[in-house]
Amino acid sequence: MAEELLKIEHLTKRFDDNTVLDDISFTVHKGEVIVVVGPSGCGKSTMLRCINALEPIQGGKITINGDEIVYGSKNLSSLRQRIGMVFQSYDLFPHLNVLDNILLAPTKAQKRKKDEVTKEAMELLKRVGLEDKAKSYPRQLSGGQKQRVAIVRALCMHPEMMLFDEVTAALDPEMVREVLDVMLGLAKRGMTMIIVTHEMQFAKAIADRVLFLENGKIIEDADPDTFFENPKTERAKQFLNIFSFERSKENEEI
Ligand code: ADP
Ligand code: MG
Repeated sequence: MAEELLKIEHLTKRFDDNTVLDDISFTVHKGEVIVVVGPSGCGKSTMLRCINALEPIQGGKITINGDEIVYGSKNLSSLRQRIGMVFQSYDLFPHLNVLDNILLAPTKAQKRKKDEVTKEAMELLKRVGLEDKAKSYPRQLSGGQKQRVAIVRALCMHPEMMLFDEVTAALDPEMVREVLDVMLGLAKRGMTMIIVTHEMQFAKAIADRVLFLENGKIIEDADPDTFFENPKTERAKQFLNIFSFERSKENEEI
């Protein structure tokens, strides 16, 4: 087994008296792709936000390569640079073109040379099929293109791992594929990732492990074949049934 990269031990997160993450523990190894699924409101986004220190936690410990991630600590910005995150909304700066959006953090926060980062940014844009959009502004791009730019922007920081929170959920169906393909490409290159998604076929294809969350607890932690073909819990079976029902409905409509 590859070395441990991210370790989450007994993570507890509350909003007032609402316990949203309840004693969560799991380890992500280098190069591993973890897919997190579960019903709306079960704590998926909150978990990713805790990993990226966007939320204070009430119990437990999160470490990346042995360094503890502590909300509000002084070295937080350097720690956060080690974990790239892409959300459902692309949050690109509207007044900056694509290239300048990508260059901002590496040149300002990491103080890297503009030439060097530009070269890398152009290579990454090419990899995601957007080399001709470097000078375009976000408003001139489709949702799928913006999301690919957001991924490139995160990659340009050289993160040790990436977190994806329902990055295709706001996209028109024809744009979903192009974003999922970028993530599949990253997996092939060995990027360590935690992906929250409702795209079950994609989840099955990309995951090394699937975590099923309910009410802030991990109730299944399995390889994708076991999870999708033979889930242990009734709750996961019900959850998966909803998706296969939706799929068969789609097929009927075609
Ligand atoms: P998911 O991403 O799985 O849909 P979330 O992590 O967004 O779930 O939310 C989990 C629970 O935490 C929900 O009950 C939600 O209402 C609550 N929650 C999320 N963010 C906040 C917040 N900033 N303040 C209070 N409650 C929150
Ligand atoms: Mg969410």
